[in-house]
Amino acid sequence: MPSAKIYYDSDADLDLLKGKTIVFLGFGNQGAAQAQNLRDSGIPNESIIVANRQDSYAEDAKSRGFNVEHDFPKAAKVADVLFLLIPDQVQPRVFNEQFAPHIKDDAVIVIASGYNVFYKLLNFKPTQDVVMVAPRMIGSSVRSLYEKGKGFPCFVSVEQDGTGKGLSIALALSRAIGATKAGAIASSAREETAMDLFAEQALWPNIIMLFREAFQVLQEAGCSDEALCYEMWMSKEPAEIFERAAEEGFIQQLKHHSSVSQFGQLNGALKLDGSAIRNHFLEILHNQVLNGKFCQEFSKIESDLEKEGDENPLNDLYKRSEASELGQAEKRVRARLAGLL
Ligand code: NDP
Repeated sequence: MPSAKIYYDSDADLDLLKGKTIVFLGFGNQGAAQAQNLRDSGIPNESIIVANRQDSYAEDAKSRGFNVEHDFPKAAKVADVLFLLIPDQVQPRVFNEQFAPHIKDDAVIVIASGYNVFYKLLNFKPTQDVVMVAPRMIGSSVRSLYEKGKGFPCFVSVEQDGTGKGLSIALALSRAIGATKAGAIASSAREETAMDLFAEQALWPNIIMLFREAFQVLQEAGCSDEALCYEMWMSKEPAEIFERAAEEGFIQQLKHHSSVSQFGQLNGALKLDGSAIRNHFLEILHNQVLNGKFCQEFSKIESDLEKEGDENPLNDLYKRSEASELGQAEKRVRARLAGLL
């Protein structure tokens, strides 16, 4: 497979942002972090506007010295660059109704996640630039790493190059928020969405299922609820394993384990036949994620997620998941050890 291009500070020219009005729609997780980083990179405060409804997020932005605009069409009209940093599920409604009709024909729209662009849920004009600058970190880390003079992993792409200058502006914006310091990886909305939804709909469901089944088998073999919960996740051993995998290598981290453990894990994984799960993964990737089936189905139930009680499909999924042996046992253990946890 080809290696991805990686962009660094030296590939980006901050001067391209001179004189541009930069609007951040949203001052939450990513909005607050990226707006502060951008300002600390030398973009004048008077060139930055935070567009937010009148509430605690707006108060937070004001308390940090930002100019806040509550009237979205007004913010749209002056934006040369618009960072779309509100939750993905509300972006189509808010952008299409309150920004798209007013925003300049040559504006740059910045997304931090591929979903709405890959599934074509946002109405852009063909003359506009649409770029993705997608940190692979939560907002607080985007900010704290910047403050420490460090970079953070980030994906960058040009999804629509209306002005012909999409890449250079995407890189300038990436540098301004601190994303090219450690190297921003060239990606695409398709790649980002495919990996994100695949992890959510294929990889992690299988991990949840493996834990659920493992729990039950060991419980039936006489292991106590308390021992199982601690052994399997409450000791935080899995978290430590993943931390070491990130730092030292997915396979190499095994060297911290005993030789019995190393032998068991490596030999066991090599002996497993992955073909059945591979077919299942291919099915999810191609016939659920990339073909848009999930997006269509999810849009039908999306509004129900705001409902209370049984009418909310998530509540039902939680109820059924917690009915498993693992879920029930954990409840008992947490109640019993409440003071110790
Ligand atoms: P948040 O949930 O933190 O967004 C909160 C902000 O959105 C607030 O300013 C809030 O203001 C505003 N908002 C919420 N609902 C509405 C609405 N209906 N109308 C207008 N404004 C609204 O979002 P994130 O920062 O988590 O996510 C932003 C983008 O960044 C998404 O595309 C996400 O996928 C991406 N991303 C997120 C990461 C993360 O760590 N969370 C990591 C990488 C990318 P108010 O409620 O006052 O309107």
